[in-house]
Amino acid sequence: MQVYLNYIEGKWVEGHSPSGVVEGHSPSGVVEGHSPSGVVEGHSPSGVVAGSLHSFEANRNPACPKQVLGQATKSSAEDIKRAVGAASCVQRAWVKIPRPKRGEYLAKCAAYLEKNIEILATLLTEEEGKNLNESRGECLKAIRVLEFMASESRRPVGEMLPSEMPGTMIYTTRMPLGVVGIITPWNFPVCIPAWKIAPALLEGNAVVFKPASLTPATARFLVKAFEETGLPPGVLNLVYGSGSTVGNALIADSRVRAISFTGSNEIGAQVHALAAKRFCRTQLEMGGKNPVVVLEDADLDCAADAVVMGAFGSTGQRCTATSRVILVPQIREVFVQKLLERVRKIKVGNGLKDPTAMGPVVDENQYKAVLSAIQKAKKDGAKILCGGEPLADEQGGYFISPTVFDGVNPASDLAQKEIFGPVLAILNAKDFEQALELANNVEYGLSASLFTQDISSIQRFNAEIECGIVHINSATVGGEAQAPFGGVKQTGLGGREMGKMGPEFFCEIKTVYVDYNTRTARTGVLDEARKRNLY
Ligand code: NAP
Repeated sequence: MQVYLNYIEGKWVEGHSPSGVVEGHSPSGVVEGHSPSGVVEGHSPSGVVAGSLHSFEANRNPACPKQVLGQATKSSAEDIKRAVGAASCVQRAWVKIPRPKRGEYLAKCAAYLEKNIEILATLLTEEEGKNLNESRGECLKAIRVLEFMASESRRPVGEMLPSEMPGTMIYTTRMPLGVVGIITPWNFPVCIPAWKIAPALLEGNAVVFKPASLTPATARFLVKAFEETGLPPGVLNLVYGSGSTVGNALIADSRVRAISFTGSNEIGAQVHALAAKRFCRTQLEMGGKNPVVVLEDADLDCAADAVVMGAFGSTGQRCTATSRVILVPQIREVFVQKLLERVRKIKVGNGLKDPTAMGPVVDENQYKAVLSAIQKAKKDGAKILCGGEPLADEQGGYFISPTVFDGVNPASDLAQKEIFGPVLAILNAKDFEQALELANNVEYGLSASLFTQDISSIQRFNAEIECGIVHINSATVGGEAQAPFGGVKQTGLGGREMGKMGPEFFCEIKTVYVDYNTRTARTGVLDEARKRNLY
């Protein structure tokens, strides 16, 4: 049995139980060190955490929930205090390491992940459920982000500005924030932490990372990859535990200067409110209700492929998943037929056994939530064209058939609320004008696609669609390491992630005036004022 321990000050240690009492230590009183092989292992010396399960959380395979993959230590506010303390102690020394050297740690981490990609991708499929190809894709994305951020370490960090004063130079430079907290969701448990941790470290911050409770194994693997680079102890710390206990303690700790959060709107609002009490900087990336608009001149095969990939890839558990497709009358009938042909061919099953099958949803709560959203949509009058059922499976996996609804009322929950599962709503528009209106008629604003060959429709869509990422003739999903990623309206707050903009959240800009004239310089403004007898 694997155990996943906290990583604080360069050591793998058990957490304190949330009650504040240190209970249920594994028989060995585990404090793990490096694995000699360099490959992520995480076995306690005794192999089992018998008798201490009350202070460990089981990590289950959603395709086969009886299979426990490992046990993650539970933690309390005490563990956060220790982790933040460790990060605070080392941060000033970390920022003194030259930026390109800091970048080298990121490059080494990317190389480690690349070497071990099959192990990591398998782990990801086992604990989150997405199929093996999707897992490989996610791991590759994390690698690309790390490589990109490593390369940023050799690029300019500020700008040189002209001065009104003679003999004076003005330039801007960057300053780290200090200790930053990173709170991440389960749906991309490798690449989202990577795209937050990499720019945070690049800018000279020390990090306390609180991963989603449902995906402890991949979080451990990522941190282990950083450990393998020789990162100084305390620069990156990992604390397992529930969001309400550990997450709240991280946000409330006055030594933490910023929180980068990705997750649901409900929790994002709580994170924001708690952080605002002490003016702590926050970055929030939250839900989506992403539309695809298909116009009369679209390549319908291409559009149908993209909608299927966007709606049912990763079992619809992507923030950028296509959840609404908006059709104009001219192509409606043919498009729906093409769509259903494809959806009915989707294989559903364990993504480890069949690397292309649509996997389960992540856990029982998600399973119940998606099925209940389907029931509600039926009650609200939407018509099921296919799917809508739990899929019986002898292993008890959380499988749901890919579901398509038609005749969806634009004001209904199905059209307005994020379901985060394999459910697609078809909406009808009389023309492009109305399609654009429907596309914008939600509180979210992450990604949107348009399928057409018409340049003026494309330009108009690009200008008027309210979202952070636009795709023309491609699916709503996906994003490259060098491109900014994030949403508007109630999806995102606090700046973009990835790309050149990614590091901006994790630093302050400092403006420096240098008078190399060695005498007090006068500005043109002061001379002007004197001429006018203003002083
Ligand atoms: P979630 O329930 O909001 O949890 C996200 C993280 O917050 C987890 O680590 C969670 O810990 C923690 N948390 C929970 N309660 C907390 C609290 N009171 N204080 C501090 N932290 C707390 O979201 P999820 O179910 O993991 O992820 C799905 C959501 O993420 C969807 O809405 C999806 O759209 C969104 N998402 C957005 C993006 C984007 O870039 N826009 C990308 C991916 C996902 P526990 O796991 O211990 O509860």
